[in-house]
Amino acid sequence: MKNISSVVHTQIIKLSAHLSLRYAPAWLSYIFVASKIKVLADYAGMCPDQDYQKFGTTFKKRLININRFITSAEFAKHAKLWCGQVISKTDYKLLLRACNKIKNKKLRNAFSKTLKKINLKFKNSDKVILLTNISLLIKLNKKSELNWIIRFMLLHELIHILLSKNKINFQRKNSKYWKYDEGLVTYCDFWLQRKLFLLERKAVKFADKLEKWYYTYAIKFRDLLKNKNPVERKKAILRMYKKLQ
Ligand SMILES: [Zn+2]
Repeated sequence: MKNISSVVHTQIIKLSAHLSLRYAPAWLSYIFVASKIKVLADYAGMCPDQDYQKFGTTFKKRLININRFITSAEFAKHAKLWCGQVISKTDYKLLLRACNKIKNKKLRNAFSKTLKKINLKFKNSDKVILLTNISLLIKLNKKSELNWIIRFMLLHELIHILLSKNKINFQRKNSKYWKYDEGLVTYCDFWLQRKLFLLERKAVKFADKLEKWYYTYAIKFRDLLKNKNPVERKKAILRMYKKLQ
Protein backbone atom coordinates (compact mmCIF):
# COMPACT_ATOMS: atom_id res chain seq x y z
CA MET A 1 0.00 0.00 0.00
CA LYS A 2 2.98 2.29 0.59
CA ASN A 3 3.61 2.16 -3.12
CA ILE A 4 0.11 3.43 -3.90
CA SER A 5 0.46 6.28 -1.39
CA SER A 6 3.69 7.43 -3.00
CA VAL A 7 2.18 7.31 -6.50
CA VAL A 8 -0.79 9.36 -5.28
CA HIS A 9 1.58 11.85 -3.56
CA THR A 10 3.58 12.36 -6.75
CA GLN A 11 0.39 12.98 -8.72
CA ILE A 12 -1.07 15.44 -6.24
CA ILE A 13 2.20 17.44 -6.14
CA LYS A 14 2.10 17.68 -9.93
CA LEU A 15 -1.52 18.85 -9.78
CA SER A 16 -0.77 21.44 -7.06
CA ALA A 17 1.81 23.01 -9.38
CA HIS A 18 -0.66 22.99 -12.29
CA LEU A 19 -3.23 24.98 -10.28
CA SER A 20 -0.82 26.91 -8.06
CA LEU A 21 -2.23 25.32 -4.87
CA ARG A 22 -0.48 24.44 -1.64
CA TYR A 23 -0.24 20.84 -0.51
CA ALA A 24 0.87 19.10 2.70
CA PRO A 25 1.60 15.34 2.75
CA ALA A 26 -0.32 14.98 6.05
CA TRP A 27 -3.55 15.55 4.12
CA LEU A 28 -3.38 12.00 2.82
CA SER A 29 -5.15 10.09 5.59
CA TYR A 30 -7.36 7.14 4.75
CA ILE A 31 -8.91 3.93 6.03
CA PHE A 32 -10.65 0.97 4.46
CA VAL A 33 -14.17 0.24 5.65
CA ALA A 34 -16.69 -2.54 4.97
CA SER A 35 -18.90 -1.75 2.00
CA LYS A 36 -22.11 -1.63 4.08
CA ILE A 37 -20.50 0.92 6.41
CA LYS A 38 -19.39 2.93 3.41
CA VAL A 39 -22.99 3.01 2.17
CA LEU A 40 -24.20 4.22 5.57
CA ALA A 41 -21.53 6.94 5.58
CA ASP A 42 -22.66 8.07 2.11
CA TYR A 43 -26.27 8.05 3.23
CA ALA A 44 -25.69 10.03 6.43
CA GLY A 45 -23.09 12.22 4.69
CA MET A 46 -25.87 13.46 2.33
CA CYS A 47 -24.64 11.85 -0.89
CA PRO A 48 -26.73 13.42 -3.71
CA ASP A 49 -27.32 10.11 -5.55
CA GLN A 50 -31.00 9.58 -6.44
CA ASP A 51 -31.07 6.26 -4.58
CA TYR A 52 -30.30 8.13 -1.35
CA GLN A 53 -32.38 11.20 -2.13
CA LYS A 54 -35.48 8.96 -2.20
CA PHE A 55 -35.02 8.49 1.54
CA GLY A 56 -34.66 12.17 2.27
CA THR A 57 -33.16 15.34 0.87
CA THR A 58 -32.37 16.61 4.37
CA PHE A 59 -30.34 14.93 7.09
CA LYS A 60 -33.35 14.98 9.40
CA LYS A 61 -35.44 13.02 6.90
CA ARG A 62 -32.65 10.55 6.28
CA LEU A 63 -32.34 9.92 10.00
CA ILE A 64 -36.05 9.13 10.21
CA ASN A 65 -35.80 6.71 7.26
CA ILE A 66 -32.49 5.05 8.09
CA ASN A 67 -33.90 1.68 9.15
CA ARG A 68 -36.14 1.51 6.10
CA PHE A 69 -33.11 2.35 3.96
CA ILE A 70 -31.05 -0.47 5.50
CA THR A 71 -33.59 -3.09 4.38
CA SER A 72 -34.09 -1.52 0.93
CA ALA A 73 -32.97 -2.68 -2.52
CA GLU A 74 -31.01 0.59 -2.84
CA PHE A 75 -28.88 -0.29 0.18
CA ALA A 76 -28.14 -3.76 -1.21
CA LYS A 77 -27.29 -2.28 -4.61
CA HIS A 78 -24.82 0.27 -3.25
CA ALA A 79 -23.21 -2.30 -0.96
CA LYS A 80 -22.00 -3.99 -4.14
CA LEU A 81 -20.30 -0.86 -5.48
CA TRP A 82 -16.92 0.60 -4.58
CA CYS A 83 -16.16 4.25 -3.95
CA GLY A 84 -14.43 6.77 -1.70
CA GLN A 85 -15.62 9.63 0.48
CA VAL A 86 -14.02 12.43 2.48
CA ILE A 87 -15.17 12.74 6.09
CA SER A 88 -14.68 15.97 8.02
CA LYS A 89 -15.22 16.37 11.75
CA THR A 90 -18.65 17.88 11.04
CA ASP A 91 -19.60 14.85 8.89
CA TYR A 92 -18.33 12.62 11.67
CA LYS A 93 -20.87 14.06 14.11
CA LEU A 94 -23.70 13.35 11.64
CA LEU A 95 -22.44 9.80 11.19
CA LEU A 96 -22.49 9.29 14.95
CA ARG A 97 -26.09 10.46 15.15
CA ALA A 98 -27.05 8.15 12.29
CA CYS A 99 -25.28 5.23 13.94
CA ASN A 100 -27.29 5.64 17.14
CA LYS A 101 -30.55 5.37 15.19
CA ILE A 102 -29.76 1.96 13.69
CA LYS A 103 -31.90 -0.85 15.12
CA ASN A 104 -29.91 -3.73 13.60
CA LYS A 105 -27.48 -4.41 16.45
CA LYS A 106 -24.79 -6.12 14.39
CA LEU A 107 -24.69 -3.29 11.86
CA ARG A 108 -24.79 -0.63 14.57
CA ASN A 109 -21.85 -2.21 16.38
CA ALA A 110 -19.83 -2.51 13.18
CA PHE A 111 -20.56 1.13 12.31
CA SER A 112 -19.68 2.27 15.82
CA LYS A 113 -16.36 0.39 15.69
CA THR A 114 -15.48 2.03 12.38
CA LEU A 115 -16.39 5.45 13.75
CA LYS A 116 -13.94 4.94 16.61
CA LYS A 117 -11.20 4.16 14.07
CA ILE A 118 -12.08 7.28 12.09
CA ASN A 119 -11.96 9.36 15.26
CA LEU A 120 -8.40 8.16 15.95
CA LYS A 121 -7.38 9.32 12.48
CA PHE A 122 -8.56 12.85 13.33
CA LYS A 123 -5.60 13.18 15.67
CA ASN A 124 -3.34 13.73 12.66
CA SER A 125 -5.65 15.25 10.09
CA ASP A 126 -9.01 17.04 10.08
CA LYS A 127 -10.21 15.08 7.06
CA VAL A 128 -10.21 11.31 6.57
CA ILE A 129 -10.80 9.42 3.34
CA LEU A 130 -13.02 6.33 3.56
CA LEU A 131 -12.45 3.69 0.92
CA THR A 132 -14.65 0.67 0.32
CA ASN A 133 -12.80 -2.49 1.18
CA ILE A 134 -13.05 -3.80 -2.35
CA SER A 135 -10.76 -6.79 -1.92
CA LEU A 136 -13.59 -8.36 0.07
CA LEU A 137 -16.26 -7.06 -2.26
CA ILE A 138 -15.14 -8.39 -5.59
CA LYS A 139 -12.74 -11.03 -6.75
CA LEU A 140 -10.29 -9.38 -9.06
CA ASN A 141 -8.13 -11.60 -11.19
CA LYS A 142 -5.14 -9.37 -11.37
CA LYS A 143 -3.68 -7.72 -8.31
CA SER A 144 -2.54 -4.79 -10.42
CA GLU A 145 -6.18 -4.07 -11.21
CA LEU A 146 -6.98 -3.82 -7.51
CA ASN A 147 -4.10 -1.37 -7.06
CA TRP A 148 -5.38 0.70 -9.94
CA ILE A 149 -8.88 0.98 -8.47
CA ILE A 150 -7.56 1.91 -5.03
CA ARG A 151 -5.28 4.49 -6.59
CA PHE A 152 -8.17 5.92 -8.58
CA MET A 153 -10.43 6.18 -5.51
CA LEU A 154 -7.71 7.59 -3.30
CA LEU A 155 -6.56 10.19 -5.82
CA HIS A 156 -10.12 11.38 -6.45
CA GLU A 157 -10.75 11.92 -2.73
CA LEU A 158 -7.35 13.50 -2.13
CA ILE A 159 -8.05 16.01 -4.91
CA HIS A 160 -11.25 16.94 -3.05
CA ILE A 161 -9.15 17.57 0.08
CA LEU A 162 -6.51 19.54 -1.83
CA LEU A 163 -9.14 21.86 -3.31
CA SER A 164 -11.04 22.25 -0.06
CA LYS A 165 -7.84 23.07 1.89
CA ASN A 166 -7.18 25.77 -0.70
CA LYS A 167 -10.65 27.22 -0.05
CA ILE A 168 -12.15 25.82 -3.24
CA ASN A 169 -15.25 24.02 -2.00
CA PHE A 170 -18.35 24.88 -3.99
CA GLN A 171 -20.62 22.84 -1.72
CA ARG A 172 -19.65 24.96 1.26
CA LYS A 173 -21.33 27.84 -0.53
CA ASN A 174 -24.44 25.76 -1.24
CA SER A 175 -24.91 21.98 -1.33
CA LYS A 176 -26.57 22.30 -4.75
CA TYR A 177 -23.13 23.15 -6.21
CA TRP A 178 -21.75 19.63 -5.75
CA LYS A 179 -21.55 19.30 -9.55
CA TYR A 180 -18.85 22.00 -9.60
CA ASP A 181 -16.78 20.12 -7.02
CA GLU A 182 -17.08 16.79 -8.84
CA GLY A 183 -16.49 18.48 -12.19
CA LEU A 184 -13.30 20.15 -11.01
CA VAL A 185 -12.00 16.96 -9.40
CA THR A 186 -12.76 15.08 -12.63
CA TYR A 187 -10.97 17.75 -14.66
CA CYS A 188 -7.91 17.37 -12.37
CA ASP A 189 -8.01 13.59 -12.56
CA PHE A 190 -8.25 13.57 -16.36
CA TRP A 191 -5.58 16.25 -16.70
CA LEU A 192 -3.23 14.04 -14.66
CA GLN A 193 -4.04 11.09 -16.89
CA ARG A 194 -3.63 13.31 -20.01
CA LYS A 195 -7.12 12.25 -21.06
CA LEU A 196 -9.04 15.54 -21.13
CA PHE A 197 -10.01 14.81 -24.73
CA LEU A 198 -12.13 11.88 -23.48
CA LEU A 199 -14.58 13.97 -21.40
CA GLU A 200 -17.26 14.33 -24.08
CA ARG A 201 -17.26 10.61 -24.76
CA LYS A 202 -17.55 9.86 -21.04
CA ALA A 203 -20.47 12.28 -20.64
CA VAL A 204 -22.32 10.37 -23.36
CA LYS A 205 -21.41 6.97 -21.91
CA PHE A 206 -22.78 7.91 -18.47
CA ALA A 207 -25.75 9.94 -19.83
CA ASP A 208 -28.29 8.21 -17.56
CA LYS A 209 -26.08 8.15 -14.45
CA LEU A 210 -25.02 10.63 -11.79
CA GLU A 211 -21.49 10.58 -13.26
CA LYS A 212 -22.80 12.46 -16.29
CA TRP A 213 -22.51 15.65 -14.23
CA TYR A 214 -18.89 14.91 -13.31
CA TYR A 215 -17.94 14.96 -17.00
CA THR A 216 -20.28 17.78 -18.05
CA TYR A 217 -18.83 20.07 -15.41
CA ALA A 218 -15.28 18.88 -16.06
CA ILE A 219 -15.74 20.16 -19.63
CA LYS A 220 -16.70 23.59 -18.22
CA PHE A 221 -13.45 23.65 -16.22
CA ARG A 222 -11.36 22.42 -19.15
CA ASP A 223 -12.66 25.35 -21.21
CA LEU A 224 -12.18 27.80 -18.34
CA LEU A 225 -8.58 26.75 -17.63
CA LYS A 226 -7.12 26.31 -21.09
CA ASN A 227 -4.38 28.66 -22.34
CA LYS A 228 -3.63 29.85 -18.81
CA ASN A 229 -0.65 29.60 -16.49
CA PRO A 230 -0.99 28.07 -12.98
CA VAL A 231 -1.65 31.38 -11.19
CA GLU A 232 -4.23 32.39 -13.80
CA ARG A 233 -5.92 28.98 -13.47
CA LYS A 234 -6.29 29.39 -9.72
CA LYS A 235 -7.64 32.92 -10.16
CA ALA A 236 -10.15 31.75 -12.78
CA ILE A 237 -11.48 29.04 -10.44
CA LEU A 238 -11.80 31.48 -7.54
CA ARG A 239 -13.55 34.00 -9.80
CA MET A 240 -16.07 31.34 -10.84
CA TYR A 241 -16.55 30.44 -7.17
CA LYS A 242 -17.22 34.05 -6.19
CA LYS A 243 -19.71 34.55 -9.02
CA LEU A 244 -22.02 31.80 -7.76
CA GLN A 245 -24.69 32.93 -5.34
ZN1 LIG B 1 -16.00 13.15 -5.65
